[in-house]
Amino acid sequence: MHCPICHAAATKVIDSRESADGTSIRRRRKCEVCQKRFTTYEQLPAHMPSVVKNDGRRENYDREKILTGIRKACHKRPISTEQILEIAEQIEKNILDTTTQEISTTAIGEQIMAQLFQLDRVAYVRFASFYWNFKDIDDFVHSLQINNLATPSSDPRRSYGLSSENFSA
Ligand SMILES: [Zn+2]
Repeated sequence: MHCPICHAAATKVIDSRESADGTSIRRRRKCEVCQKRFTTYEQLPAHMPSVVKNDGRRENYDREKILTGIRKACHKRPISTEQILEIAEQIEKNILDTTTQEISTTAIGEQIMAQLFQLDRVAYVRFASFYWNFKDIDDFVHSLQINNLATPSSDPRRSYGLSSENFSA
């Protein structure tokens, strides 16, 4: 996201919240070059396809599962929360561009790997090694929860990865 004032590429998300009607995300951003603050609005995907698991069960798309997997793969890597959110948004955009009805967890896992491959090879290898062991993003996230590396996602604000603690350092 480029700064609208000085056009620098280095901008940071300082606050992020879902609109009252749940259709968009309002983000406060700060330019790291000129320090000006500005606001962006991004539409939430309205009709994500359902997700087909390896055992054939279907469930609603859940951004938090994807974010959890990416975050853990990126643990202690020089990757910002904003970059992680951008990966999730890019994956959703790719899914919406190519799929109308259903998408498999395998296809989602491959999308995540493709994005991480471009961003950070260590995170990519981490995700890939977990992923190919478990073959299912659910199993991957579940294994992280068992190992107490992931936090439970019972808070509804987490459903789009918008809780304020996601933006702490
Ligand atoms: Zn600026």
